[in-house]
Amino acid sequence: MHKLTVAQQAKALAAKEFSSEELVNHYIQRIESHDEQLNSFVTFTPEQAIENAKQADVRGKQGGILNGIPIALKDIFCTDGVKTSCASRMLDNFIAPYDAAVVTKLNQAGAVSLGKTNMDEFAMGSSSESSFYGVVKNPWDTERVPGGSSGGSAAAVAARLAPASMGTDTGGSIRQPAAFCGITGLKPTYGRVSRYGMIAYASSLDQGGSFGITSEDCAYMLQAIAGHDARDSTSVDQPVPDYVAGLNRSIKGLRIGLPEEFFQEGLDAGIAEKIQQACDVLKSLGCEIKPISLPNAKLAIAAYYVIAPAECSSNLSRFDGVRYGYRCENPKGLEDMYLRSRSEGLGEEVKRRIMVGAYALSAGYYDAYYLKAQKIRRLISEDYRAAFNQVDAVLSPTTPTTAFKVNEKSNDPITMYLSDIYTIGVNLAGLPGISLPVGFQQNLPVGMQLVSNYFEEQTLLNLGHQYQQQTDHHLQMPKEFE
Ligand code: GLN
Repeated sequence: MHKLTVAQQAKALAAKEFSSEELVNHYIQRIESHDEQLNSFVTFTPEQAIENAKQADVRGKQGGILNGIPIALKDIFCTDGVKTSCASRMLDNFIAPYDAAVVTKLNQAGAVSLGKTNMDEFAMGSSSESSFYGVVKNPWDTERVPGGSSGGSAAAVAARLAPASMGTDTGGSIRQPAAFCGITGLKPTYGRVSRYGMIAYASSLDQGGSFGITSEDCAYMLQAIAGHDARDSTSVDQPVPDYVAGLNRSIKGLRIGLPEEFFQEGLDAGIAEKIQQACDVLKSLGCEIKPISLPNAKLAIAAYYVIAPAECSSNLSRFDGVRYGYRCENPKGLEDMYLRSRSEGLGEEVKRRIMVGAYALSAGYYDAYYLKAQKIRRLISEDYRAAFNQVDAVLSPTTPTTAFKVNEKSNDPITMYLSDIYTIGVNLAGLPGISLPVGFQQNLPVGMQLVSNYFEEQTLLNLGHQYQQQTDHHLQMPKEFE
């Protein structure tokens, strides 16, 4: 059963080939026997899952698009009555009193949550090593990282401990782990999916999205989670198309741009070769491939690492040991309580970013750093705007290398930051992006990123779907988890 995609499981459930209870039980057993090697889940909720699966079986055809399908949720989405930790000691004792908007929508669609997945603390990272609950491992090679920050959600789908999962992407945290784990990951347009109840890291960049085996599965997930929500003031009121029905729309004649800046030094030669082969497949399907330029792309990381920390320093000020979350033992006074609660409750990378952000926003430095970064952000958006006057999608590798080793970069934040070099500009511009598996380089998965114009997720899903009809990279599974 675990080799089936979401779309195949939905059909099998509808045809009563098996029940949701059987399906969910199967995944529960897989998590019990395999997750010790991966550490992809932080909270596992089997009893609740079985209960919900039984209800899905009762609903049957009356259920929504994901009726009876098991999924996993990054531990950044608030889930009513279930611990929501953001993989931080700060929230180790936090039981969310309400559901995030996407959780409500997934429930309405009939999906059955298996539990909450591990991640970088507060979604800050590219390797899922900074979790309070320990490092997540890549199922293709457990000495390597799964990418981050949504590494648990990606590893779980790659090892088929869930057929699909939810992640968040602030600078690449869906696309980069999808690439490292050999699965499909979609980051929707900023505003397409509500951020209500999704613990904030950098609010102007954060966006929830999904992981699946196929592009088709990401269409199923997006169908369930997209839509306007008045509780998120940046949620956009745009009709939600029928993404699944639109999957077979032809991609013939679509123009695809290759940014010359993304095929220069720093890119692994083996990855460049796989991307070239993927381009050839798209060409054979009638797409036109042409060079484009994103002249300000090289400034994206620098701008991001001012803007994201600035927003995080503000968002994370609520974790003060007073209202909820961790409080230090025996505080000697108010100041001591704030100081020690935050020092002890937050990890090193999170503290580094709060300090960088507070500095960049401080009087005297605001113009030099924060304002400058915002100007660069505009230039990057303009580059994409110009590109979309010429092409329908922008194609590049998702990452400059394949998955790196655990501890390889954890003491060198700058090198770690560079692993998002192709993904970060997309968040700064607020555009949608997808990562698709395009092959292997020394037994490690390689991902290709496609980016389209605002609210053109359908174009990405179609390109992915048509590409996956011609290839089988996305169907490969790590041997140990077959
Ligand atoms: N790696 C980037 C960061 O550390 C992006 C993380 C994310 O998308 N949540 O901020």
